[in-house]
Amino acid sequence: MSIHHGIVDAIGNTPMIRLQRASELTECTILGKAEFMNPGQSVKDRAALFIIRDAEKRGLLRPGGVIVEGTAGNTGIGLALVGNALGYRTVIVIPETQTQEKKDMLRLCGAELIEVPAVPYANPNNYVKVSGRIAEQLAQSESSGAIWANQFDNVANRDGHVVTTGPEIWTQTEGRVDGFICAVGTGGTLAGVGIALKEHNPKVMIGLADPMGAALYSYYTRGELKAEGSSITEGIGQGRITKNLEGFRPDVAFQIPDEEAIPIIFDLLEHEGLCLGGSSGINVAGAIRLAKHLGPGHTIVTVLCDYGTRYQSKLFNPEFLRSKNLPVPAWLERESTLDK
Ligand code: PMP
Repeated sequence: MSIHHGIVDAIGNTPMIRLQRASELTECTILGKAEFMNPGQSVKDRAALFIIRDAEKRGLLRPGGVIVEGTAGNTGIGLALVGNALGYRTVIVIPETQTQEKKDMLRLCGAELIEVPAVPYANPNNYVKVSGRIAEQLAQSESSGAIWANQFDNVANRDGHVVTTGPEIWTQTEGRVDGFICAVGTGGTLAGVGIALKEHNPKVMIGLADPMGAALYSYYTRGELKAEGSSITEGIGQGRITKNLEGFRPDVAFQIPDEEAIPIIFDLLEHEGLCLGGSSGINVAGAIRLAKHLGPGHTIVTVLCDYGTRYQSKLFNPEFLRSKNLPVPAWLERESTLDK
């Protein structure tokens, strides 16, 4: 018998999918780790589970306890689903600019949702800081305990990728991986997978794919945290060195504009049946850049972070795309000409 005893056991061990067009274009093998196939439809289920298990081990969470987090949505969804399965309440603070689909999902998971204006990290009213304060208050009042998941600076997040995602990639490619690249939200995925793959083979090239509006490309190439431009992608684009990034350095960094990444999302859906969110477009664009950097014949792995329906109102909305001067794929507006 092969039975999962709850959704917690169904997190991870995601398929690895060869991306046909990207591979052909570069004469490399470009592989996408299908993280959208996790129970919460994103890579962040792994971090959510590891953060919760770590808090349990430390004796900080007891049945009926509360998990508080500031999130662009995916970590909150992972925490809420795992929380429901393990008997914890969730309080989620989200910047109001994130898609309605993610907020709706959080509400239907039963999370207590607090929307706050999107302000920079330095501002005390930033969503991460608000969530930290709420967690502190609840820790005083809740008899079963309350924790701040603190995904940016809690390295249990990165550990999840050191222990699961990285080794899965090594096993699935039978060690024949030349490069790994992805964008950074917290840095848990990039640093965690990077650390795990380097343990197996220090020659694996680890790349950062940075969206516009993030400061890490300038940090790793010029030594200064400087952000320029903006991106419609959500969940990625970091302006500081989080605890999850500390002690880790990518071998190479690329800055990827939306004009390069978003058409890849449409192509993957139209030609390969892969329905993905915007950060996956940055990642696949980064994998193509890394493949060109390494030359033909190499194997490069990236992450397909979350499912596209989570962004229907933006990424797949012609009006929104036009307002951002991004191309609108023809099929998105096609009407049937068939007789009823
Ligand atoms: N893509 C999406 C859609 C995300 O929500 C996140 C997490 N915020 C990431 C990528 C980045 O993952 P990490 O936090 O591990 O850097």
